[in-house]
Amino acid sequence: MPHIRRTGAGRSKPPGRRPRLLRSLVSGAAIGAGRALGACGSRLSVIGERLFCGPDAGGRPGQDAELRRALEEGQFFLVYQPTFDLAGMQVSGVEALLRWRSPHGVVTPGQFVPELERSGLIVPVGRWVLGEACRQGAAWRAGGRDVPVSVNVSACQLVEPSFVEDVRRALSSSGFPPELLTLEITETAILAETERSAARLEAVRRLGVRIAVDDFGTGYSSLAHIQLFPVDALKIDRSFVSDMLGGREAGALVHTLVQLGKALGIETLAEGIEERSQLTHLQGEECATGQGYLLAEPLAAEELERFLDRWSARAPLGTP
Ligand code: C2E
Ligand code: MG
Ligand code: MG
Repeated sequence: MPHIRRTGAGRSKPPGRRPRLLRSLVSGAAIGAGRALGACGSRLSVIGERLFCGPDAGGRPGQDAELRRALEEGQFFLVYQPTFDLAGMQVSGVEALLRWRSPHGVVTPGQFVPELERSGLIVPVGRWVLGEACRQGAAWRAGGRDVPVSVNVSACQLVEPSFVEDVRRALSSSGFPPELLTLEITETAILAETERSAARLEAVRRLGVRIAVDDFGTGYSSLAHIQLFPVDALKIDRSFVSDMLGGREAGALVHTLVQLGKALGIETLAEGIEERSQLTHLQGEECATGQGYLLAEPLAAEELERFLDRWSARAPLGTP
């Protein structure tokens, strides 16, 4: 039976006692974050520190009809990209990534998540993603594999009053253990509506779920003016990993983030490892975990099972 190793640095401490990372927002940063939300920002109206997600926030009329139909007709599906403990090169979990089997072929999220966010459809679709990822995680468990699963959560979902209940329901209806679920949230999403986001994340964490900051380093926050939030993992953005061997700044940043994670007991995960030299460098930096095409691409659920079998049969310290 394949062994999935959990490396989350924050795991050893009970919820509520783990270090909080994002602290002390400068006034007005929430508004800045709302503007920096990209596609979601055009659907999120920022009034004071409140965010509104839905049809009144602008967007292109009629464009959401196909996506609405996609949800109704079950055209969305998930693929799973393995993450690895970089010291022992064992699989540490998977990230669930959304795909749309459209009438024109399979479409990746960059081409439709912004529209889901603009239309507010990200809320029911995100609810489906949570339910499906937990269902799949529970099915793997029933087959003898404990696979930690990460799910991406949009700012629009985080500000929904039903968010905590959606997470709770996905866990209880599937029977997937909360400690195997991580929610990935971007810095800008966290900063978008500080107080409510913090309360929701605290509530979700009280369920036993982990929180990871996605694309860390690209958002609006900085170490000088980020509010304290409960965080278990930092995902170092792909852009730093791809530049880290070419430029001093990116290399220094990766080094600093890994050290920061260590000092605070937060897991660091390097995104977008594409080259062997990057992997070796990150292992030298003692970055805990990583993911990228060099190690494994996103896979369908059945492919992932075969991948885990093959991987566990390899030499334990093997690299690709
Ligand atoms: P992300 O959460 O940062 O996910 C990682 C993205 O990087 C994925 O793209 C993955 O396929 C890609 N990737 C992984 N390794 C490599 C690599 O070595 N090189 C390169 N160039 N790319 C790599 P994908 O699946 O297209 O997803 C893009 C983004 O869409 C995600 O970025 C996430 O922000 C969003 N997304 C995906 N699924 C969901 C979802 O269920 N809900 C929400 N709200 N957003 C989602
Ligand atoms: Mg992610
Ligand atoms: Mg990311």
